Amino acid sequence: MAVIVQKYGGTSVGSPERMRAVAERIVAAKEAGHKVIAVVSAMGDVTDDLVRLAAQINPEPPERELDMLLATGEQVSIALLAMAIHSLGHEAISFTGPQVGIVTDHGHTKAKILEVRADRVRDALAEGRVAIVAGFQGVTADGSITTLGRGGSDTTAVAVAAGIDADVCEIYTDVDGVYTADPRVVPDARKIGVISYEEMLELAASGAGVLNLRSVEFARNHGVVIHCRSSFTGAPGTIVEEADNSMEQAIISGVAHDTSEAKVTIRDVPDRPGAAATVFTTMAEANVNVDMIIQNVSEAGATDISFTTPKADLVRARRAADAVVAELGAREWQVDESIAKVSLVGAGMKTHPGVAAQMFRALSDAGVNIDLISTSTIRITCVVEARQVEAAVRALHHSFGLAEGDVSVESVPACGKGE
Ligand code: ASP
Ligand code: MG
Repeated sequence: MAVIVQKYGGTSVGSPERMRAVAERIVAAKEAGHKVIAVVSAMGDVTDDLVRLAAQINPEPPERELDMLLATGEQVSIALLAMAIHSLGHEAISFTGPQVGIVTDHGHTKAKILEVRADRVRDALAEGRVAIVAGFQGVTADGSITTLGRGGSDTTAVAVAAGIDADVCEIYTDVDGVYTADPRVVPDARKIGVISYEEMLELAASGAGVLNLRSVEFARNHGVVIHCRSSFTGAPGTIVEEADNSMEQAIISGVAHDTSEAKVTIRDVPDRPGAAATVFTTMAEANVNVDMIIQNVSEAGATDISFTTPKADLVRARRAADAVVAELGAREWQVDESIAKVSLVGAGMKTHPGVAAQMFRALSDAGVNIDLISTSTIRITCVVEARQVEAAVRALHHSFGLAEGDVSVESVPACGKGE
């Protein structure tokens, strides 16, 4: 008998028929002798619809009230799912985030979980019921409803799994796992069987949309094993867990791309101590998320500073850039929205020199120009023109032999093999 958390995304519960199919899957797990906790998202596009509705009333709604509104989407799902399970002759009880004690900070619309009490979940399981928990929502210590940021139900599921010490957190979605690249862009992309937290974090941060980044961080910090799989098939998906040295390690695990960011450049920033601090303090105060940062070589006492930021933050970024230019006496700022990022991720990079060289060569052979580059120990990211990003992903996937049946990175010599 295992304790299993099953998370179902909006598409998986998007209609009464699908909701019923989810109920059947939960009941099957229960009849197999497991204790099941289901965490669900709002049905289909309900959250998007609520965001639009709010915008029609007030283009800049107070965030506390936005959370109050958005949390209703998940409350609909949990009640309907409990009803569906009852109609199959099993006991289920639904809980909102506040009811199961998912305590968060006050960061409305992107709150962080501080504690999961989960007593009522444990009680429900002990009584032989299925516990159904609303994803994406929590409550502050003083009783205000919060939400965890878009896609936050994955984090709820992982946090509940950690809170009740579940054996596995199964994340059911509309794709059947994590792929070596987006299968819509690379038709022969391969499903990854097992991947480490570190690699999954880099892939998620680089635009692989399957798992929410914060949920993977939470899983790593609390040692929760994630099984990401399809709610439409019974096939096994991708396991995300601590790297095991006995595991055969691919040098490169995947290619991710992201078209959601824009590049902001501040021109002719005076080259003196504190200038960069001023730029990024101003951005942080304006709640602008900054991703890649590049500072150019300074000429004649001035330098250009570029960074990438989600397009969703651009209104605030432009306003903050005005303030930066005025405060520092920089020349001007520019925004380029037609960029994209392509990233190569793999733990084997640490010990295999030459991966960067092969990446840049593959991009150049495909006629893709590189604008910015940034790296971590297990990732290399290039900013390229948005219109070339799919060609870039295909070129890298091919160059590193990531397709089904291919062997990985033959052209890159392994470090320390003494050949
Ligand atoms: N319903 C929320 C959203 O659409 C949370 C989630 O789906 O995970 O962002
Ligand atoms: Mg959703």
